[in-house]
Amino acid sequence: MQEIGHWIGGRRVAGTSGRFADVFNPATGEVQARVALASAAELDAAVAAAAEAQPKWAATNPQRRARVMMEAVRLLNRDMDRIAEAISREHGKTFPDAKGDVQRGLEVIEFCTGAPHLLKGEFTDSAGPGIDMYSMRQPLGVVAGITPFNFPAMIPLWKIGPALAAGNAMILKPSERDPSAPLLIAEVFREAGLPDGILQVVNGDKEAVDAILDSPVIQAVGFVGSTPIAQYIYSRAAATGKRAQCFGGAKNHMIVMPDADMDQAADALVGAGYGAAGERCMAISVAVPVGERTADALIAKLVPRIEKLKVGPYTAGSEVDFGPLVTAEAKRRVLGLVESGIAQGAKLVVDGRGFMLQGYEKGFFVGPHLFDRVTPDMDIYRTEIFGPVLSTVRARSYEEALALAMDHEYGNGTAIFTRDGDTARDFASRINIGMVGINVPIPVPLAYHTFGGWKRSGFGDLNQHGPDAFRFYTRTKTVTARWPSGLKEGGEFHFRAME
Ligand code: NAD
Repeated sequence: MQEIGHWIGGRRVAGTSGRFADVFNPATGEVQARVALASAAELDAAVAAAAEAQPKWAATNPQRRARVMMEAVRLLNRDMDRIAEAISREHGKTFPDAKGDVQRGLEVIEFCTGAPHLLKGEFTDSAGPGIDMYSMRQPLGVVAGITPFNFPAMIPLWKIGPALAAGNAMILKPSERDPSAPLLIAEVFREAGLPDGILQVVNGDKEAVDAILDSPVIQAVGFVGSTPIAQYIYSRAAATGKRAQCFGGAKNHMIVMPDADMDQAADALVGAGYGAAGERCMAISVAVPVGERTADALIAKLVPRIEKLKVGPYTAGSEVDFGPLVTAEAKRRVLGLVESGIAQGAKLVVDGRGFMLQGYEKGFFVGPHLFDRVTPDMDIYRTEIFGPVLSTVRARSYEEALALAMDHEYGNGTAIFTRDGDTARDFASRINIGMVGINVPIPVPLAYHTFGGWKRSGFGDLNQHGPDAFRFYTRTKTVTARWPSGLKEGGEFHFRAME
């Protein structure tokens, strides 16, 4: 059985805790490897080594650090297929989708090649008589990234790029479900010229996470995962004085106005609802057609498209639209929610429960499901399903549709499909959700903007990537400087008031 360890001090090392987690092949259900789960002592040792290496890295001029990013971009492009294959093998997503996972992370590293510009401080000449004032952005020291299973390359890269380009060292604790891609990424950064110890990849579970939260050395935690864990990490990190940004779950609504192009809306919903088997924090999981006629037209367009979707292993190549869920537990959970939807009175229009693939009977596949006449009190509406299940909630008016999305506890992404500029503008302005698409179903901002949800989809006050990431991974120091040529007027013993 293949054993996956950690990346410490610029090389792969085996775990010493004696604890392991199974890594599955989601298509066959077989255990294909086991990953070491670090003890608190292993985590602390990785932190100590990072703390030793970090000051020299921080003192390296920002342009040289940016050159490591430039080389990493080249190498990530070179190794894209290898990393994507590792993702598909452990996560189950299709190969093109896995390449997208690497690509959207790589774009943040491209953005980080401009770090010297982003790290420039501020300067006020002659703030007072003979006084200059300047602010500089300094790295925090050792920081941590804790990342989810669903984007095993993209989200680690979102953390690694800005943290390292700003001069920090990072402890990355990736998901134990698909640990291979982050290790390949660590190898790439070493080859790109990153000094040993600056990026430590420590695999683990709650024990490693709690050791991160308790570490007096670690200054900041960037987390992405489910909301209960995001909230736990945010509060515990804050209790020990760490800076924290913790991004959680989602329930993204797509509002379809009566004037929308129904074919376009249906195509968008199918891609955004079922892509990656719905295991995306920006997946659309709720369709909100406005008016009964819109709803009937939308359902009529959706059903044949959904029935045509091809589900299968990534090895089947471009034949497949989406793959299996990540674990048997995820499959059980999703199917349990489907049963609850039926029991609570929603209308199951497309039923994927019986889905079975010859030769892959033990795989974690779930066929696509479409519910109609879902109401806000149902579990399938309130809960993040994280599977190939799209719920339709019929709204009587635009205001009712808007209120639905506004009242939901999550606020990650949302979209509106309409041909009316006034409605779209009103929606973008009033909605209390972090990322908004207008005729765009998955509005993931590009690397030079920032990514983050509102309400219970995000805890903390700065977003991921873009300029916010450089604010998160640096702190400001402000210097007030006077260079007297001698005490011309005698000493000053009180603050000067404005005259
Ligand atoms: P998860 O919360 O189970 O795990 C995330 C990380 O936390 C992993 O590294 C895991 O090892 C660790 N963890 C799990 N349980 C823990 C515990 N009890 N104590 C301490 N650490 C723990 O999330 P997941 O299942 O890997 O990922 C899916 C979730 O992530 C979904 O809810 C999805 O919406 C969310 N997500 C959000 C975003 C975003 O930007 N908002 C992006 C991607 C995924």
